[in-house]
Amino acid sequence: MNRESCCRNCGEREFYLQKVSARGGYGPDLLPIGGFFRSPAFQLRVCGVCGLVDWFVPPEHLAKVRERFTREDSSTAPH
Ligand SMILES: [Zn+2]
Repeated sequence: MNRESCCRNCGEREFYLQKVSARGGYGPDLLPIGGFFRSPAFQLRVCGVCGLVDWFVPPEHLAKVRERFTREDSSTAPH
């Protein structure tokens, strides 16, 4: 994550970070990687000026994403 970069929407640099659970209890499991010891989570990065949100999978969960998710290639990429 490049914390020095500007907001891609408004160009400002005022960001707020928060880690949130990917399982809110209602709705879909947004990060279905299993895990009995550690709940999946997202690192949110919110622009404090325009409110644009970026979602990051924290490094400790990325290995599971690579294992469980389908890697995009030319046959699976959305058109
Ligand atoms: Zn912004």
